[in-house]
Amino acid sequence: MREKLIFDLSREGRKGYSLSGNDIPELSLEAVIPEKFLRTEPADLPEVPESEVVRHFIRLSNLNYHVDKNMYPLGSCTMKYNPKVNDAVCDLPGFSELHPLQPEKTVQGALQMMYELSGMLAEIAGMAAVTLQPAAGAHGELTGILLIKKYHEARGSRRRKLLVVDSAHGTNPASAAIAGYEIVSVKGAPDGRTDIEDLKAKLDGDVAALMLTNPNTIGLFEKDILTISQLVHENGSLLYMDGANMNALLGITRPGDMGFDVVHYNLHKSFSAPHGGGGPGSGPVGVSEKLIPYLPVPVVERIATEDGTTYRLNADHPESIGRMMNFYGNFSVLIRAYTYIRMLGAAGLRRVSENAIINANYLLSRLDGRYDLPYPKPVMHEFCLSGDRQKKAHGVRTLDIAKRLLDYGFHAPTIYFPLIVSEALMIEPTETETRETLDQFAEALIDIADEAATSPELILAAPVNTPVRRLDEAQASRQLNICCTL
Ligand SMILES: *Cc1c(COP(=O)(O)O)cnc(C)c1O
Repeated sequence: MREKLIFDLSREGRKGYSLSGNDIPELSLEAVIPEKFLRTEPADLPEVPESEVVRHFIRLSNLNYHVDKNMYPLGSCTMKYNPKVNDAVCDLPGFSELHPLQPEKTVQGALQMMYELSGMLAEIAGMAAVTLQPAAGAHGELTGILLIKKYHEARGSRRRKLLVVDSAHGTNPASAAIAGYEIVSVKGAPDGRTDIEDLKAKLDGDVAALMLTNPNTIGLFEKDILTISQLVHENGSLLYMDGANMNALLGITRPGDMGFDVVHYNLHKSFSAPHGGGGPGSGPVGVSEKLIPYLPVPVVERIATEDGTTYRLNADHPESIGRMMNFYGNFSVLIRAYTYIRMLGAAGLRRVSENAIINANYLLSRLDGRYDLPYPKPVMHEFCLSGDRQKKAHGVRTLDIAKRLLDYGFHAPTIYFPLIVSEALMIEPTETETRETLDQFAEALIDIADEAATSPELILAAPVNTPVRRLDEAQASRQLNICCTL
């Protein structure tokens, strides 16, 4: 059934509220709003009873797909179930009613939360200090790269190149380019990890840093990370870790111990804040000792005296790269991450990663054999399949398989990324899915592999039972091109 607009549900005189009579004298509007701002016609607002308003929006939410409805296997972007208690803590008036311009002495609790969260994140990643300012992963990358730039400049050196591994998330080269660097791509080896020989060949006196994702986007841990770290540092370069995949490492190993100088976290992925629909996010950056002087200001500091402990925002750090975000960063995402970490504790965080890894390997073991697996098992928190076989044998592309999954009631995985895998299907089940859900998802993909052989036309027409049917991709991309050229 097509859902009507709320205006179409409107009937004159129906109301969504009921109030007792007003015994306060009414102010005339003209007395409070200058005449030129007053409407001449009454606003055309829908008149709908509360029951119909609630049902309308519940029906709309059901037309959509969301993580409260079913599994979201997006590789790399960790769409897991986020505990609702995080939101309840955000709603506490002590947080939700703060104003960012309040004097420091009236926001001590907020500053304490930020100070403690920085400390916990530093401990988790083995870094010396953490800034909470960046508003997303990509923003954290930019912040981290600016710190690296400042570090080299402070030593009178102007290195112009940043090395990025070819399986990296697209934001890595984009952030490096925005910071003014020339990007040099380092190849992946046949086992899916960084090609050390290629890295050696590209490390010269002009390289400011190597950006690496560990585990990488194919879900593989860089086994030779200590060798890589040594090579990079002997070259006078720094080592940057894209930490979006931190949910494979929590409590097991730490970027700082692997030799990374900078790491960004995606609080809206690993540390549980909802991020469907584009935000808000938070991408704190952890640094090693030598980068501390350059961190963005203001820095949240703790001052312990005999009279007690206070917190302050200190902008007096002359070597800082400056401010990366106004006010306190995306504060509500920080509260969610803080709540999540405090709730789980050290042992709970380790369980998060253990379960994420076990779930990924379980799901892979069910699908391996039915789809091509371009790189060897075992994996960490995610894996990448290829739809090459289905395409060659039956003319069914990964795009079609992804659309067919919608008919089975699942969101599609990430597809056609990373770019080094043809017909890529990149899957991250996350730690919050039960074995039963993983089995249902595996069975859906296995059924689709069968359908590709027996009735490919079904897949080519999919989706058939979603509120919106198959879009004309060719036309959509033509229109997009027109928009871009306009
Ligand atoms: C999501 C992601 C990013 C970018 O993070 P945003 O918060 O989306 O800007 C960078 N690298 C990897 C590996 C990611 O998964």
